[in-house]
Parts: sequence; C-alpha cells; structure tokens
Amino acid sequence: MSVRDEFDAWAADGRDKGMERRHWHTAKHVLAGMPVEAGDVVLDLGTGSGYALRALADTTPLSAGYGLDGSPEMADNAREYTREVGHEAVGYIVGDFGTLPFATDSIDHVFSMEAFYYASDPHETLREVYRVLRPGGTFHCAVNYYEENEYSHDWQDSIDVAMTRWSASQYRAAFRAAGLAVATQAHVPDEETEIPPSEAFPTESWKTREAMVERYRELGTLLTVGVAA
Ligand code: SAH
Repeated sequence: MSVRDEFDAWAADGRDKGMERRHWHTAKHVLAGMPVEAGDVVLDLGTGSGYALRALADTTPLSAGYGLDGSPEMADNAREYTREVGHEAVGYIVGDFGTLPFATDSIDHVFSMEAFYYASDPHETLREVYRVLRPGGTFHCAVNYYEENEYSHDWQDSIDVAMTRWSASQYRAAFRAAGLAVATQAHVPDEETEIPPSEAFPTESWKTREAMVERYRELGTLLTVGVAA
C-alpha cells in the first residue's frame, strides 16, 4: 500500500490526533531542546496532525514552518487545526521524503517524530535533509520504532508501508554518511503513559510491569540529533 493510501485512512478515522496525544509525551521534550530562534525556518517531516509546528510557533515567532506529509488528508487536517489557532507562518505541504521541495541551504532546523523510518530510501532522505539545511542547522529525528526497542518490532505486521528498523548506532552511521555530524543521541523517556500496579499484570498488551517500565521509562523515544556542517 502507498504512504498516501495508508495514512489517508489513518487521518480519516482520527488516528492523527491519537498519535499526537501519545507522541506528545516525548515530542515535547525534543521540541523544547531544539535551538529554534525567532525568524527561523523550520521543517517537520511527516507532520501528521501538524502539532509540532503549532507548538514551536506558540513559543517562537517563526518566519516559516513547513509541515510535509505524503498524505493529503493528514495535511488537510493539519491545516484545519492550525487555522483554528491562527498561526499564519505555519503551512502544510503534500510531498515525499525522497525529494524535499525546498532549495539547498534554505531551512534552519528539521524535526521529525515517528515518521523517518517510513522513507522508501532513508539514506536518500538524510542526504535531502543535509542539502536543505543551512550550515549549522539541525535535524532532530525521533523514533519509537528501532532495533533496541523490541516492543516495537511487531508494528510492521499491522502497517502496509515498509519500515526501516535501525539500531542507535545505525542511525549515527547513516547520519554521518549523509554529512550530518551527530551532536547527540538519547533515549527520551515517556513519563506520562500510565503504568498500572504489579497486580494488574498481565494486561491485554503487557505480560509484566517490568516490560512496560522498560518500554516507556527506559527505552522511550530514540532521539538522534544531526548538525549540517
Ligand atoms: N509526526 C506525527 C505523525 C507521525 S505518523 C506525530 O508525531 O504524530 C507518520 C507520518 O509520516 C504520517 O502522517 C505519514 O503520512 C507520513 N509519511 C510516511 N512516509 C512518508 C513519506 N515517504 N513521505 C512523506 N510523508 C510520509
């Protein structure tokens, strides 16, 4: 199935907002750590409901915020939610991670939450991110689907778009191969997903409390931060 067909269906049944709620637990920490300044141009790759740009624009006057998504329905929803709060500088574009519709050296910072691994060629996407970033610009790439997070491994079974499952070190190597220096890499814990007391286990989704603690509080979201030289 194409990215468009898969994620148009998600947008139509409200999963854009469901993801926003779950991803916000860690995405907000990633966004707070981005060195975005007034007047910057920011790109959100695989923007979904578009919440990341609204959050950045809430705290910093951007000259432009572009949310790129392969699903027209996601982009339509993101536009509608953004109109409601009136962030004029933020807009949404339908496009693919393979060819970013931006000039070389035109973007100050790129953010991506739980989307990068859907790229049909993630190395090509990293080269594109490097190309569009201004020297000194950053790529904050956050993923919950990655090799060390064994709890994420079966996600591919329920998604018809091929997903790339890299380890933390594969992320670092691929960033470097594309010209992005790795400034930092971290596990951002999700402190908000509620973990019931031991006697509640096993639950429908979790065999043990320890597994749930490892998934949310220890592994969390893998953040890799690249800097364009
Ligand atoms: N960042 C959002 C959405 C994550 S879901 C959040 O945190 O909730 C992943 C999003 O990436 C979907 O909206 C999907 O349409 C988009 N996407 C996946 N592969 C893509 C590709 N190759 N090109 C453009 N967008 C893509």
